[in-house]
Amino acid sequence: MISVGGLAPPGWVMTVSGAVPASAIGPTLMHEHLLCDITLPEMRGVPHRPVTLETHFAALYRPEQHPGNHVLDDPALAARELAPFRAAGGTHVVELTIDGIAPDPQGLRRIAEASGVGVIAGCGTYITPYLNAETLALDEDALAARIEAAVTTGIAGTDVRAGIIGEIGCSWPLHPFERRALVAAARVAARTGLALTVHPGRDEAALREIVDIATGEGLAPDRLVLGHIDRTLFSLDAMIRIAALGAVLEFDFFGIETTRYWIASVDLPNDGARLRYVRGLIDAGFGGRLLISQDICTKARLAAFGGHGYAHMLANVVPMMQARGFTDGEIATLLVETPRRLLARAA
Ligand SMILES: [Zn+2]
Repeated sequence: MISVGGLAPPGWVMTVSGAVPASAIGPTLMHEHLLCDITLPEMRGVPHRPVTLETHFAALYRPEQHPGNHVLDDPALAARELAPFRAAGGTHVVELTIDGIAPDPQGLRRIAEASGVGVIAGCGTYITPYLNAETLALDEDALAARIEAAVTTGIAGTDVRAGIIGEIGCSWPLHPFERRALVAAARVAARTGLALTVHPGRDEAALREIVDIATGEGLAPDRLVLGHIDRTLFSLDAMIRIAALGAVLEFDFFGIETTRYWIASVDLPNDGARLRYVRGLIDAGFGGRLLISQDICTKARLAAFGGHGYAHMLANVVPMMQARGFTDGEIATLLVETPRRLLARAA
């Protein structure tokens, strides 16, 4: 049996600074990065190119071709970037930088202390191209043990505990390592009462497979978040089909207003189109199974480099929702109640 000694009490949330009651959770972004390096493996080692006024749009439009853009490595800058989010009423950010994309749990704790914004850290492994041979050789039990350690004692030998599992990297078709990682993550989530959040492969069948694997390990589907719906499903009908499986659908590219997706030839929706999907899913009865976030992982999207910053959701998207007739209750469900339900440890 797993030791649960280091977990938050049931109904409490584990932040990088310690456990807090779920009632402390206010408006929360459930899928962000504050410190990370998501540079494409083939671009590692290429000299960095600064993001300037002249290069800002290029860095937004082709982020992967702008070396250094995918590197966030300054805790003081991250704390400053969170100030407008806090001023707009935000209380917490879920930081999903996991193995393969340069997690820095101690840095997250410094950011939380400096900014006054609570940070909940994720744990686990990203998609296989980002992982080293040692990690790729791990079996299910070893992967589960690493996740268990991250949530009970601390991430990677630190005393900073993870409060959510993921974003677990999955491709389509699912790589054998990614299947082991997902099985391990779901197993620990089911045993510990933590939520699981997944970076899915880009296919409706990939989402179905992830739900099958996670629930097969005993995880309740409403403890499973399927991220990046924005670049995975392209019709309301498909979204309703997946939502009907009981998992939480997360639109986490808010603020990305460009069509081009940096990793595949799909058309991204803009914020208005995202809100039409969210409206449609609420009207179909799935309002309690939805999350909205920004997945910031590039300099170009930070305010210091001319981007929209972490406050975009509260400063710009919420007013757009209000103007479109979303009720205060619907908005609170998306930004407060569902994050609170997922982050609070289930008994
Ligand atoms: Zn992410």
